[in-house]
Amino acid sequence: MKIHEYQGKQLFRNYGIPVPDGEIASNAEEASAVAQKLGGTVVVKAQIHAGGRGKGHLTTNEDIRGVKVVNDAESAKSHAAALLGQPLRTHQTATEGQKVKKVLIEKASNIASELYVGMVLDRETSQVTFMVSTEGGMDIEEVAATQPEKIIRQGIDPATGISGFHARKLAYGLGMEGTTAKQAAKIFIQLYKLFVEKDASLVEINPLIITDAGDVMALDAKLNFDTNALYKHPDIVELRDADEEDDKERIANDAGLNYVSLDGNIGCLVNGAGLAMATMDIIKHVGAAPANFLDVGGGATAEQVTKAFKIILSDPNVKAILVNIFGGIAKCDVIADGVVVAAKEVGLDIPLVVRLEGTNVEAGKKILYGSGLELIPADDMLDAANKVVASLGGAA
Ligand code: ADP
Ligand code: MG
Repeated sequence: MKIHEYQGKQLFRNYGIPVPDGEIASNAEEASAVAQKLGGTVVVKAQIHAGGRGKGHLTTNEDIRGVKVVNDAESAKSHAAALLGQPLRTHQTATEGQKVKKVLIEKASNIASELYVGMVLDRETSQVTFMVSTEGGMDIEEVAATQPEKIIRQGIDPATGISGFHARKLAYGLGMEGTTAKQAAKIFIQLYKLFVEKDASLVEINPLIITDAGDVMALDAKLNFDTNALYKHPDIVELRDADEEDDKERIANDAGLNYVSLDGNIGCLVNGAGLAMATMDIIKHVGAAPANFLDVGGGATAEQVTKAFKIILSDPNVKAILVNIFGGIAKCDVIADGVVVAAKEVGLDIPLVVRLEGTNVEAGKKILYGSGLELIPADDMLDAANKVVASLGGAA
């Protein structure tokens, strides 16, 4: 689960990690009031769940960028007014952009240098791993590709946790000295604490800055949390902004379905995560691409299947559907009922290939074939994959 920059910065404050003074605003008057209170030069920052806001701009006006330094409250007000309610497009959003509902107004810092700090769980080593670089402010993917030696990595053994040694090594690696290095080391220790205590899956500060005065401060805050651990953190759940999430993924999530949007054109409805993975693989194997991963789960009800079907069909990229069900706990007749109800409700007008196997398969087939729906039965997975590709006129 992602949160906004201003929420991440509040968490940073709670952990003693320095961030600029600032407040959130939902309209131009509030923005102006905050700017006045802060005084002097401030920064107006669009709050959306995507990075690259500084280079991004409104889809409706290319001159309006997502992050802007302004000299007074009047300019803060007009930039906030220009951003609010408009869709901001960055290299991380969809082309239609993401609507700006709030702006963060914060004090402008005097930047001497911009650094990069990232933290992820490294699955190879099972350790929370820091990745830091002097190349802050730019895309870290680009640094990784062109100057990999400029990224310093440090894994932290969960048994011992972070020590002063780790923190100093990172700070010195960034070329810091004296009190600047001390401040940074403290920040790294607090970041590790936050990451573990709140079950984060990613923390990224780009940029972490050194000010003219040699102080260290987080100017940006990107935090993701492990959804499987959210039950332990009601305070984090409260920060959720459903408007920022993929509509289809959110609806699926609320219905208890495991759904992930993908780029292909074959919608998949499958029960069981393993079978869903195998289905995506076999679609790739026959030269096509899945539009989604969808696991309706072991105990799927007809109602859930109906929802799943609607979610798949709401994706305009989907040109054919492959239903691949192995009846175990979920019985084939139940799934078949759901498919028929959904297909009739939405007026299915694209090819539907169905492979059913397992518990109550005969009853399931009877329901499907007797439904009057135009569907293509398949004998096994490979047959199903070939048929769905053939229904689109051959491999993509
Ligand atoms: P994004 O990563 O989405 O583009 P950032 O928060 O990193 O957004 O802001 C982009 C750039 O704007 C930063 O790299 C920094 O140069 C500048 N900036 C952001 N916040 C401030 C601030 N409080 N004071 C001065 N400059 C800032
Ligand atoms: Mg940034």
